[in-house]
Amino acid sequence: MNAYIERTIASVKQKHANEPEFVQTIEEVLSSLDPLVNAHPEYEKFDILGRIVEPERMFTFRVTWMDDEGKYHTNTGYRCQFNGAIGPYKGGLRFQKNVYPGIIKFLGFEQIFKNALTGLPIGGGKGGSDFDPTGKSDAEIMRFCQSFMTALYRYIGPDIDVPAGDMGVGGREIGYLFGQYRRLKGTFENGVLTGKGLSYGGSVIRPEATGYGAVYYLNEVLKHEGEDIQGKTIACAGFGNVTWGICKKATELGAKVVTLSGPDGYVYDPDGVTTEEKINYLLEMRASNRNRVQDYADKFGVEFFPGEKPWGRKVDIVMPSAMQNDVKMDSAEKIAANGIKYYIEVANMPTTNDALAFLRSQKGMIVAPSKAVNAGGVGVSALEMAQNSERLVWTADEVDRQLHRMMETIHRVSAEAAEEFGLGYDLVAGANIAGFKKVATAMLEQGVF
Ligand code: GLU
Repeated sequence: MNAYIERTIASVKQKHANEPEFVQTIEEVLSSLDPLVNAHPEYEKFDILGRIVEPERMFTFRVTWMDDEGKYHTNTGYRCQFNGAIGPYKGGLRFQKNVYPGIIKFLGFEQIFKNALTGLPIGGGKGGSDFDPTGKSDAEIMRFCQSFMTALYRYIGPDIDVPAGDMGVGGREIGYLFGQYRRLKGTFENGVLTGKGLSYGGSVIRPEATGYGAVYYLNEVLKHEGEDIQGKTIACAGFGNVTWGICKKATELGAKVVTLSGPDGYVYDPDGVTTEEKINYLLEMRASNRNRVQDYADKFGVEFFPGEKPWGRKVDIVMPSAMQNDVKMDSAEKIAANGIKYYIEVANMPTTNDALAFLRSQKGMIVAPSKAVNAGGVGVSALEMAQNSERLVWTADEVDRQLHRMMETIHRVSAEAAEEFGLGYDLVAGANIAGFKKVATAMLEQGVF
């Protein structure tokens, strides 16, 4: 490997030994960049790698809130403004009890390249809190969001940093966060957040965008292989917003999602999550805050596998769409043994690095990386920002058309970047190279700081 890359990885490993997820994404991205860094000696001269692995700014803040019994609780809030070379920092907020700096940094780092791949002017950022929304009442969620925004509002803005949702943060939370921002600022700056409700500046298709985009990307891969999506079976994970969008679009195109998962296990529905009733039930399950996928099995009389993951199922396409490190070596071995041809990552970093390397080395298997596949979500967030700044509202057809085109372009640009360096149809390396190159160019042109 290129010595400059090796040195950068070694120093991140040493400095962030207690943040394994961050080290993991740095190793994954940087090790793909060998041919690019070899071809660009100016990266080392101006220390692009050393600079890009260091967040421009990251801070924590205190979030104290009152529960329904009148008891006070204090959580930690985070915002990482990782790289602003190509646009205002942009990225979601995650509310989950396991949130700590290593999670925020890994998500922020991935976000830089994902956002660059959209082709739109957005930098990389991420934030969140170790607040656990499970079992919280609506009033508790509102008070938490208000306290969170009270601490954060001075440091964000439509041209500074634009948060959005991620796990634990959906339309309801964005509404409370925006309400508090507006109350504190005294201006109607709705471009400060995306994923808003339609009544105050949200974009149509934003809730569906990540899942729709993932299926559009999958479709490009299938076309490349001369195959049709019609009739294909898909194993998904989770049952949240992203998986919901995949089920909707897959159904529309004649494919079917046959597995869903949760912290309690997975369900197998051989008929697919294809009816309106089933697809809508995913929203109900999420809104209940119970975080149990067994509810789906109970309601629709399908099999539930407690404590298991769906990756041993023989399907046409595997789309891990739940969370980071969901697919480890043992699952990867099952996927390979089942002869699955399409491994399409959807969640951020859903595969451990050893499992990813193993899958990429399987002959005939096509691996697509999440930072490209799930970029449609943040891409439509950027379209929401555009509508807000123009004080315009676009139609669903217009947004969907732009999303579709964006995903085609991301696939093409990734494939071309890999091709340019003689790597063949390597979508993982191609996405890293294309995303990185754009950001590095902007950094070089703006001088050293
Ligand atoms: N959290 C989503 C992501 O991982 C969306 C971010 C956004 O829309 O800003 O890309």
